[in-house]
Amino acid sequence: STRFERRNRRLFDAHMKSVKISAWYLPVIEIAGLGTTAAAVGVGGWWVHQGDLTIGTVTFFVLTLSNLFEPIQQLSQLFNMVQSAGAGLKKVYELLDTDVDVPERPGAVDLPGAPGVGGSASADVGREPTRARRPQEPGAIEVRDLAFSYLDGTEVLSGVDLTITAGERIALVGPTGAGKSTLAKLIARFYDPTAGSITIGGVDLRDATHDSLRRTMAVVPQEGFLFNGTLADNIRLARPDATDDEVAAAMESIGILDRFADLPEGLATEVRERGSRFSAGEKQLVSLGRAALAAPEILVLDEATSSLDPGTEAVVEEAMERLAAGRTTIVIAHRLTTAARADRVAVVSGGSLAEVGTHDELIAADGHYAALFAAWAGGQPV
Ligand code: ADP
Repeated sequence: STRFERRNRRLFDAHMKSVKISAWYLPVIEIAGLGTTAAAVGVGGWWVHQGDLTIGTVTFFVLTLSNLFEPIQQLSQLFNMVQSAGAGLKKVYELLDTDVDVPERPGAVDLPGAPGVGGSASADVGREPTRARRPQEPGAIEVRDLAFSYLDGTEVLSGVDLTITAGERIALVGPTGAGKSTLAKLIARFYDPTAGSITIGGVDLRDATHDSLRRTMAVVPQEGFLFNGTLADNIRLARPDATDDEVAAAMESIGILDRFADLPEGLATEVRERGSRFSAGEKQLVSLGRAALAAPEILVLDEATSSLDPGTEAVVEEAMERLAAGRTTIVIAHRLTTAARADRVAVVSGGSLAEVGTHDELIAADGHYAALFAAWAGGQPV
């Protein structure tokens, strides 16, 4: 807190300094302007009196002077703006200059089936009906002997093996801190594994182009970020070239269009700073709308832990359901209904997979999941 105080003090001092400077600058410019005008009128008047100049010349000169001083006054305000814009620009550049943790390897290849990249991708990769598992199919994910440590060195995941077939919906469940989000982040390649590998459509993520990965996958975080701008702009982030109709169609496809279109200003509603106008559930609907517009092969969903108001909750669930249909989906499930609806459930516990199977299988096995489920079911009406 002393550091906070010191910083605050410095901000205060800097601010006072700038206020003092502008308090001086304006009057000085003002007085200089008036003084010069007075001098010009005086001297000019004298010269006119002497017959050296005409009145017109003097009038012209005086008027020109005021034209000169007005911009100088404005300059002081402009200068302030330029300074803060400069500071903003510096931040933007710092961000742009940040090295990515996961560099793209030279000669990286596109993931198969990535929409809209380099032509041929969606050809018949891995369409061999004889094989039960088709890891080369777009949207199929293979996690092999995965281990991961954050920078501080403690191992968060180890020995994780998981095969997710294309179009499958898998729920990750388990206690807080077990490593569910970390696994999801690795699949989205926010980090590279410390050991082992993750492939999508048969391509190791470390060999894939960023562009194709981002087109193949959408990540819907617990709390989506809303930027200043209209609702439509916020959804269009997923695909900047989408038309208003495409934005509306994407929202309609997951059943959230009416909810927003019925606002007085519809999709042109300004969301304001960080979406302060919207409830947590509505913000989530916007995130889901973005994902729908991106129409990715793979979806990574982090379900909100906090309960939403009952009216929104049903809409959010319905939207998630529709969004997940036909896509490979990894959902970090905090609600038992979400886990029960998934094709398979993977129980993450202490950094590895304790159990993987369908809801019914795991209930029958009477292990971790059955215990979690019983605890959940005790806590809330099913
Ligand atoms: P879950 O999603 O199951 O709650 P997480 O994957 O968020 O679990 O966390 C797993 C472990 O990794 C926790 O012990 C957590 O403290 C740690 N962890 C999460 N994120 C980071 C990070 N950015 N840096 C260091 N440790 C982290």
